[in-house]
Amino acid sequence: MADIVPLENVPLAGYSTFRCGGPAKFFAEPSTGEETAYLFKWAEDKGLDVFVLGNGSNCLISDDGFDGLVIRIAKNMSGLSSEESEDGRVTVKAGAGLPFARFGNYCTELSLTGAEFACGIPGSCGGAVFMNAGAYGGEAKDFISKVCYWDGNSIKNIDGDQCGFGYRTSLFEKLNSDGKRAVILGFEAVLSKGNKDDISALVEDLRGRRTASQPLDVPSAGSTFKRPEGFFAAKLIEEAGLKGFALDDSGAQVSPKHAGFIVNNGGNAKASDVKKLIDYVTEKVFENSGVKLEREVRLVGDFGGL
Ligand SMILES: Cc1cc2nc3c(=O)[nH]c(=O)nc-3n(C[C@H](O)[C@H](O)[C@H](O)COP(=O)(O)OP(=O)(O)OC[C@H]3O[C@@H](n4cnc5c(N)ncnc54)[C@H](O)[C@@H]3O)c2cc1C
Repeated sequence: MADIVPLENVPLAGYSTFRCGGPAKFFAEPSTGEETAYLFKWAEDKGLDVFVLGNGSNCLISDDGFDGLVIRIAKNMSGLSSEESEDGRVTVKAGAGLPFARFGNYCTELSLTGAEFACGIPGSCGGAVFMNAGAYGGEAKDFISKVCYWDGNSIKNIDGDQCGFGYRTSLFEKLNSDGKRAVILGFEAVLSKGNKDDISALVEDLRGRRTASQPLDVPSAGSTFKRPEGFFAAKLIEEAGLKGFALDDSGAQVSPKHAGFIVNNGGNAKASDVKKLIDYVTEKVFENSGVKLEREVRLVGDFGGL
């Protein structure tokens, strides 16, 4: 039986790309599905809630932290391998803790096309499945052929078309919203060979477009809001006069470079400052356009009355 021992009172700000938030009461980084199952049982025996964290690039963690066990799926579950089949297609296996960008780069190294967009997404492979991460017309669902996950009882392998992928959602996200357990342990992707120079050129092009349009040097969690049907969140925020807007000098700011990103300028804002600004932007955009923005960024822990 696994005997992983959770650490106590672990600061989480360093595990979130927003660079804010308080500590986890308990924290562990399992290496296997069995250890993950053991950790859930450990928490259940103590009556503790559990939160599964990937690379924290889509999470805003409360200033009070998380009053339970944070299970971080990261480097301990970051296997990466590939196998070519007779038809020339290649199956790439990635552990949930592997950076999604590393998966993208690996596909580029192997001259595999279709995962170029992944090179610029700062989440883990597990987070990319959970969120069906995507950019520049590509989405994780395009190449994921199998997902391995722990469903609260056993480890299951399901096909990509059973994963309920949609815009920034998946079966796993839906199970989670329903209070059910689903920890992604890894995926398999099937990709075809392409021209290596073309693939590398596309990766560079997308990287350039990202650097030119996004505030990558300031802490954030990427796009704060989902794209409302028929609109662009950033455009609606700009039209409400909020590009570059800040409520105070906390550092929480609508990025002057890309209005769709709320940033932690200087890295000193509290999660509550960021949350207040998210709420303010939501309200003002609704007043200005009648469109109700929905958060893409996920809240972790208790935000009280905020
Ligand atoms: C600068 C920047 C640019 C970004 N650009 C993009 C973009 O172009 N496209 C895009 O889609 N996103 C983008 N993002 C957002 C983010 O990178 C993605 O949503 C990513 O998929 C989140 O992965 P993560 O590992 O960081 O997840 P986390 O933030 O750690 O978690 C997000 C959610 O996934 C769940 N989760 C994570 N891992 C697992 C697992 N193994 N099992 C079960 N649940 C899990 C968590 O519980 C949480 O609810 C960007 C973020 C930043 C900071």
